[in-house]
Amino acid sequence: MNAIFKIAAVALAATAAVGSHAESYPAPGKTITIIVPFTAGGPTDKVARDLAESMRKQLNNATIVIDNADGAGSTIGTAKAARARNDGYTLLLTHIGMSTIPTLYRKLPFNVLSDFEYAGIINDVPMTLIGRPTLPAKNFAEVKDWVGKNQGKVNLANAGVGSASHLCGLMFQASLQQEMTPVPYKGAAPAIADLMGNQVDLLCDQTTNTTSQIAAKKVQAYAVTTTKPLSTPALKDLPTLQSLGLKDFNVTIWHGLYAPKGTPAEVVQKVNEAMKASLKDPEFIKRQEALGAVIASDDRITPAGHKKFVEAEIAKWGKVIKAAGIYAD
Ligand code: ASP
Repeated sequence: MNAIFKIAAVALAATAAVGSHAESYPAPGKTITIIVPFTAGGPTDKVARDLAESMRKQLNNATIVIDNADGAGSTIGTAKAARARNDGYTLLLTHIGMSTIPTLYRKLPFNVLSDFEYAGIINDVPMTLIGRPTLPAKNFAEVKDWVGKNQGKVNLANAGVGSASHLCGLMFQASLQQEMTPVPYKGAAPAIADLMGNQVDLLCDQTTNTTSQIAAKKVQAYAVTTTKPLSTPALKDLPTLQSLGLKDFNVTIWHGLYAPKGTPAEVVQKVNEAMKASLKDPEFIKRQEALGAVIASDDRITPAGHKKFVEAEIAKWGKVIKAAGIYAD
């Protein structure tokens, strides 16, 4: 074989290999693992399990398993995903933390922008401020009063340093200008369990985790973190923190799907298409809406739209975190 012919043959084989990635993805019998960097049963986990259930139908009934690689405010699981094989059989589903950890942690073993392929944003989820059942405060004015009288003694649970509940809690303390004691967990599932058991006082967490507990009156609910009240039946009477005088308080959590850097573009495209179809699946939409979540806008359900959005979020939250001087390390 002469040299030019050899190069052409190699190039042809490479093209065929790339094409076959997409055609055969997911290969029969292969399992897709979605890494969730928080505990099982928490809000990020719930979104992942719901999405996996629907995506499976779009991907020839492939087996999709969730790997809860929790701890250190999502950074352990996210690092694991960055190091995983980039063949499309390991994905990462995480939340707004992807845009806050680059500022909250001054040293990370991965780069959120250059170590991942972006598959699309899934949803937007409001947060709620909730309290333990035995907390004497029955509304937000009483919470403010009670926190003031118990300076430094109030326990504010969160899902780990760098998590969304941590960020929300820090903003809450800064707005009230009150010191509270943060209590970090590996995810919001153990945090809300301890709140229901009266072990901690307050928690700010996604409606995907809190709605059913609020409806069942297993926790006390005081306010929502969005600029407008919500329409979900169990949450519709909750005031916004802004309307209660916490100027500029506006936190909405979003979730996105990623693959390790170098995952073939055709495979990422297939994952994106399966995800897009799931976001139109009436069953998935119904489950999300019942928990106060809203399906992401079309412009962000694309790999390029997702990345552009995360870049903007990194800039936005970077300013907030630096202004508040809060760092995890
Ligand atoms: N809700 C958690 C957080 O505060 C994450 C989780 O457990 O899903 O970031």
